[in-house]
Amino acid sequence: MTAGELAGLAVVVTGGASGIGAAIADRLDRAGAAVAVLDVSPAYADPRFASFAADVSDRKSAEAAMAAAADRLAGIDILVNNAGVGAVGDVAANDDDEWARVLSINVTGIARATAAALPWLRASGAAAVCNIASIAATAGLRERALYSASKGAVLALTRAMAADHLREGIRVNAVSPGTADTPWVERLLHSSADPATERAALEARQPHGRLVSPEEVAAAVAYLVGPSAGSTTGSIIEVDGGAAGLR
Ligand code: NAD
Repeated sequence: MTAGELAGLAVVVTGGASGIGAAIADRLDRAGAAVAVLDVSPAYADPRFASFAADVSDRKSAEAAMAAAADRLAGIDILVNNAGVGAVGDVAANDDDEWARVLSINVTGIARATAAALPWLRASGAAAVCNIASIAATAGLRERALYSASKGAVLALTRAMAADHLREGIRVNAVSPGTADTPWVERLLHSSADPATERAALEARQPHGRLVSPEEVAAAVAYLVGPSAGSTTGSIIEVDGGAAGLR
């Protein structure tokens, strides 16, 4: 992506106050876009960006924040649905409330945020949506039953949305990261007795011997939402060190 490729475009990044979302906001800002961040914890957002409190799993909250962002940016051309939460355990590990909570954020949250942004996306003329899935959607990870189900649904939703909105000029794609070096993974490591050893083991389990960087995920998002990907919709880019493609 060349500097200024997104000049004049308005971007909303959900979950943009931390980790992958913060890297995406930074990348798209450096490509010239005006960026707004929607997050349940907006206090942690980079002060360069307009930031709005929103819980994407709450329809009213998502709608109000999206309208406020559109008002501030004078429209929405690009929506990055990045907000998500994890869940650990096999299929019996999480109770009904936890299944409802995680699916409501990771899956319904994408539907709600996108529905809330549609009036502005339809009016854009350069509209693109990018959803953040996960290697968990396709890899069959151990101890990630609920999380994997939620991310599999993100891929299905991406393709369905791409079909529905193609003729409205809205492209919809997804990026599927492998294990990435973010505060989320840092929290998981620090819940173990020996975080440094755990980190080394985690890195060794990755096909390319290291964690994915949030900036690598952000670069794929920047491509998919930009004019170079004008003929790309319903597609998934894996940024996972080869995990999905190698056996
Ligand atoms: P993170 O916890 O560092 O950041 C997630 C952000 O989302 C936080 O700022 C949080 O406040 C926000 N958020 C959480 N629930 C929200 C809600 N209901 N409404 C609005 N905002 C909400 O996590 P991360 O590692 O940067 O993950 C970002 C995305 O990338 C998630 O969708 C995650 O599933 C996906 N992902 C992460 C990894 C990884 O290894 N880190 C791998 C694959 C996919």
